[in-house]
Amino acid sequence: MSIEFRNEPLTDFSKEENAQAMRAAIEKVAGELGREYPLVIGGERIKTGSTLESSNPAQRTQVIGKFHKATKELAGRAVETAFKTFQTWRNVPARERADLLFRAADLMRQRKHELSAWMIYEVAKTWPEADGDTAEAIDFCEFYAREMLHYAGDQPLVKLAGEENSLEYIPLGVAAVIPPWNFPLAIMAGMTAAAIVTGNTVVLKPSSDAPAIAYKFFELLEEAGLPAGVVNFMTGSGAEVGDVVVDHPKTRLIAFTGSKEVGLHINERAAKVQEGQLWIKRVIAEMGGKDAIIVAEDADLEAAATGVVQSAFGFQGQKCSACSRAIIDARVYDPMIEKIAAQTAKIKVGAPTENETMMSAVINEKAFKAINNYVEKGKTEGGRVVAGGGADGEQGFFIEPTVIADVKPGATIEQEEIFGPVLAVIKANDYEDALRIANDTQFGLTGAVYSTDEGKIEKARREFHVGNLYFNRKCTGALVGVHPFGGFNMSGTDSKAGGRDYLLLFMQAKVSSAKVGATRKRAEAGTAI
Ligand code: NAD
Repeated sequence: MSIEFRNEPLTDFSKEENAQAMRAAIEKVAGELGREYPLVIGGERIKTGSTLESSNPAQRTQVIGKFHKATKELAGRAVETAFKTFQTWRNVPARERADLLFRAADLMRQRKHELSAWMIYEVAKTWPEADGDTAEAIDFCEFYAREMLHYAGDQPLVKLAGEENSLEYIPLGVAAVIPPWNFPLAIMAGMTAAAIVTGNTVVLKPSSDAPAIAYKFFELLEEAGLPAGVVNFMTGSGAEVGDVVVDHPKTRLIAFTGSKEVGLHINERAAKVQEGQLWIKRVIAEMGGKDAIIVAEDADLEAAATGVVQSAFGFQGQKCSACSRAIIDARVYDPMIEKIAAQTAKIKVGAPTENETMMSAVINEKAFKAINNYVEKGKTEGGRVVAGGGADGEQGFFIEPTVIADVKPGATIEQEEIFGPVLAVIKANDYEDALRIANDTQFGLTGAVYSTDEGKIEKARREFHVGNLYFNRKCTGALVGVHPFGGFNMSGTDSKAGGRDYLLLFMQAKVSSAKVGATRKRAEAGTAI
């Protein structure tokens, strides 16, 4: 391990040797599709006979894997097992826990393209998007391992004569880790890594749309030396077994990333104290967004159009940070629409397994229908489709990158998270109006401003209420350590994943104070150990 954290470099697939390596990984994974995977509780592989299938969004009949579904009883057992394992794992030195993550990061680096290939098949990520996801997962392990070493060291306290005081961070207990499917490796691995490196044990319930990549990560942790029961792998319906894990009196914290609806549901359930429960459950909930890019009249319009299009359509617009609203000063509205439409038309939609594909299918049929409904709604509410608008669900869930102009502030597609390749363009009277429209949302995750005017940038810094604000660059692509990530208001608890404060959410501080001279050294006292 190098002392200083460095972000994992992204792969340049225009280089033939890299493209070749990715093609080989895609071929290898193709030969492994359709297998069956068990639940793993306390190291025991369990098959329940009832399975859920994960399938390829770009080729809907292709099965990625079959996953045994947990029953309610098994979900309870997973928490009990994690609780039991916590009694030993909490005492494993921080250095050893950190080393486990360093080894996991090394293994991920060795199998980078293979892990990316699983995401190409399972959630239809393009090559660069999958590569970015894997790199971020490596970063989380490397970053949190180093952070843990920092928290395990001496913590400065004010000195008081006659006393020796110390503060140590101790783990909380059983963590329910509930990730979304859209960063199925990075977010899942990040929340799991943070929980275990701080000394907690985990019940990991991956998304039913992306369990295969989660299982690959789980196996990799085992290979890196994870003791049985520290992470318990539990596939199953979020509504059925998710509630059991959230409600369980021995669950101590819930690390959730996903939609606002499910996040609020979990928060509410977790607040209810169950019989035998000894604590107030801690909920980390990172939720949706309705992110906006403001284009001021003095902006570099070409750069702004590029930023808007990249942020809106990367991974089919299925990022919590995706730009779903472009708010444009009336004075540059028409030329901006033209530029955005022209750049959008160049996006090549296709199979995620091909290097040249820039956008692929959306995650599943439910999303496909919901996104198409939003496009229709946008039209009926007076929007003008200036790019895309078409969809084809025959072979896979393909929706064209769609730009809807003349959307009015307050319209449905201006307010609700769509989570698909649909951009609403809104005309603002001036910069002040643009900021007002941008803030008129229940969410507050990311945002960006394109302007060459320092004064406008400064004003946005003060008034644009989002957790991650960018200037003259796209509003997606947060890097671990560089852009700690998390949102305000209904976007979540602003836990700033990939930031210095993140691990504190998984720990509590214990302070010990001793009167100097009140005890004798063991030898002096004559006690044997
Ligand atoms: P989702 O809310 O549908 O599901 C998230 C997870 O919750 C899944 O694992 C699901 O199985 C589980 N779940 C569902 N019901 C549950 C219950 N009753 N109890 C416990 N668990 C339950 O979200 P999704 O579709 O997987 O992900 C997309 C959403 O995630 C979008 O809203 C997106 O903005 C958000 N997201 C936010 C961030 C962020 O950092 N703020 C990052 C990525 C995604």
